[in-house]
Amino acid sequence: MNIAVIGTGYVGLVSGTCFADSGNDVTCVDIDKKKVDQLRDGEIPIYEPGLETLFSRGLREGRLHFTTDMDRAVSNADIVFLCLPTPPGGDGQADLSAVMQVAGELGSLIEDYTVIVNKSTVPVGTGDRVEEAVAENVDRERFDVVSNPEFLREGAAVDDFMYPERVVIGTDSDRAAEIMTTLYEPFVRSGNPIIVMDRRSSELTKYAANAMLATKITFMNEIANICEKVGANVDNIRRGIGTDSRIGKRFLFAGIGYGGSCFPKDVQAIHYTAAQNGYDFKILDSVMKVNESQKISIVKKMEEYYETTDFSGMTFGVWGLSFKPETDDIREAPALYIADELTERGAKLLAYDPEAIGTFKQATSPKVLDNTTFVHDQKAALDNIDALVICTEWNEFRRPTVDNFADEMKQPIIFDGRNLYDLERARKAGITYISVGRPAIN
Ligand code: NAD
Repeated sequence: MNIAVIGTGYVGLVSGTCFADSGNDVTCVDIDKKKVDQLRDGEIPIYEPGLETLFSRGLREGRLHFTTDMDRAVSNADIVFLCLPTPPGGDGQADLSAVMQVAGELGSLIEDYTVIVNKSTVPVGTGDRVEEAVAENVDRERFDVVSNPEFLREGAAVDDFMYPERVVIGTDSDRAAEIMTTLYEPFVRSGNPIIVMDRRSSELTKYAANAMLATKITFMNEIANICEKVGANVDNIRRGIGTDSRIGKRFLFAGIGYGGSCFPKDVQAIHYTAAQNGYDFKILDSVMKVNESQKISIVKKMEEYYETTDFSGMTFGVWGLSFKPETDDIREAPALYIADELTERGAKLLAYDPEAIGTFKQATSPKVLDNTTFVHDQKAALDNIDALVICTEWNEFRRPTVDNFADEMKQPIIFDGRNLYDLERARKAGITYISVGRPAIN
């Protein structure tokens, strides 16, 4: 099939590359000329494990193309995927300007029957709006608009796309459903389902999934907060409840809150949609409030430990800037908030991340930039610091083990937002170790 992918970010680039790898001819479009030039030159602008091999093969075998020219990509396409940003607008509602702008242009570019697929996360009813916008410039029989939400996780995006647990397709058109099913069949050979449903349910499915996951994380963070008050250990509770198959083992790790480009904005957006429709989605109100305070809970622990809100003259090492491991994405990363709070209190920072230093520098405040030295090796971030703050659970931070900190640090004090180390070993190593939902080792 000929496929056009409009928007070549995390979702568009991974989708386009994986569709090319399964034998389709894919043209990816972006308005960012620099990005398109980079991609044409064989350079991937994001960090995503496993992407490079498929990307290089797609380029080499001539099945993957990049352009800023939407006309060229769309006029030949059987399917056009919209992988455009839908950031939070005012009041938390999704900003649909990119989606609607492209929808407005599509009608005049379509030649033969084309399936237009919304892969962006969009509020219920967006498919109807896109359909109306396209129909202004082309006969209604020449296209269908389908919802096909994307469930990939950054850091595991290629695997998630190649082996999805399910594919959701929202459409009432048999013709579009058949084309979409044919496209996705190679990805679900192991028997995972392609679930075809009406478009509105499909649009809402994506928000329901993200809101459920954000709630699960937040629930465990609240349990962690109670653990700290009553002297229990959230790790034990996680094991104790995760073995119940109704609850499941995943997404039960306590920490410093969820971040990223999806959970925060999608929780806000479904909350907004509910309110617009006269429904007060109370549980999500709490999820958002708890997550806000959870992100900086580690700073509160530092204030308690040092018995001051003034950190002038102190330098803290920071391990991890991305919102989660295996990505360079720092959107809504707790580290952004923690760095703001620490420098606001007068601290200097020595920060390290394996992939996200560049993106962090672009997104953080001038005050953080002025007060942070970025280093390119995790040991260098321990040099002469007053304490280490761990914001992301990159695997490499699990080594050197906790036993080594006493030798490597001037004062072996760790505030761990991701519960990387075993408490007993921390105690034996003689370090001060303050984590989330577990007894402090002092
Ligand atoms: P992104 O910001 O990484 O990429 C969006 C791309 O679209 C950028 O390259 C931008 O230059 C381009 N763009 C903007 N306006 C354009 C236009 N008018 N024409 C052509 N290109 C344009 O975004 P993303 O993370 O890939 O997310 C895209 C959508 O997918 C969002 O709705 C998001 O919620 C959803 N989603 C994201 C993830 C994720 O993990 N990132 C997962 C599932 C769903």
